[in-house]
Amino acid sequence: MSSMDIVLYVVFFIAGIVIGSFLEVVAYRVPRKISIIKPGSFCPNCGAKIAFYDNIPLISYIILRGRCRKCKAKIPISSFLIELFTGLLFVTNFYFFGISLQIIIGIIFCSVLIVVSFIDIEFRIIPNVIVIPLTIIGLGLNIFKDIATWWHPLAFSAGAFIFMLIINLIYPRGMGMGDVKLSMMMGAFLVKNVIPGLFLGFLAGSIFGIFVIIRKRKLKQMIPFGPFLSAGSIIALFWGNNILKWYTSFF
Ligand SMILES: [Zn+2]
Repeated sequence: MSSMDIVLYVVFFIAGIVIGSFLEVVAYRVPRKISIIKPGSFCPNCGAKIAFYDNIPLISYIILRGRCRKCKAKIPISSFLIELFTGLLFVTNFYFFGISLQIIIGIIFCSVLIVVSFIDIEFRIIPNVIVIPLTIIGLGLNIFKDIATWWHPLAFSAGAFIFMLIINLIYPRGMGMGDVKLSMMMGAFLVKNVIPGLFLGFLAGSIFGIFVIIRKRKLKQMIPFGPFLSAGSIIALFWGNNILKWYTSFF
């Protein structure tokens, strides 16, 4: 690894945690219908404005020991985790894709998945206002990337939507329309890798579901499916080509 690479890894990590702190604002405000631009960061408990020096990604959470400087209310650990995940995913994108159009696709996709997962965990919804515009952006980027096969992103996005819609109609308690639309967005960003993405999402969700049943908790409403689809998507983004190659080698 050259020293230039090391510099770029650091740059991507810092960019990731900074974007992560913005994603945290989005994940908090969109479901609560607060503007993501105004006002500036504030404590959800006492409403105090958060000074810039208390708003440094990762570091402020550690220095403040996860509490508001004014009222000492606990800052949710999710705010730290969002920043950390985003930083790590930005670095992973650089590792796999280098400086390319694909890294832009990967970074946007990972960022949206983080926001969607945290909103889904907290509210059990996947907002249209996020998923619909990002589907269009994903389609646009992938069509631009491989103009010769411009219809692939459209076909895989529509295919994922229809596939999930059928499952939703057969088994409506298993997932919501939010998951159907999330799958459409996955197709827009992952193109053919949406197949391993959905498969891995279902696999992870099922294993977790069985675990919950064994523990004799209520399955219904317990499990948001978005985070599993997101986890499957992230694996498919980086390893999907290898998974598909491995799978087709059996035929
Ligand atoms: Zn406070």
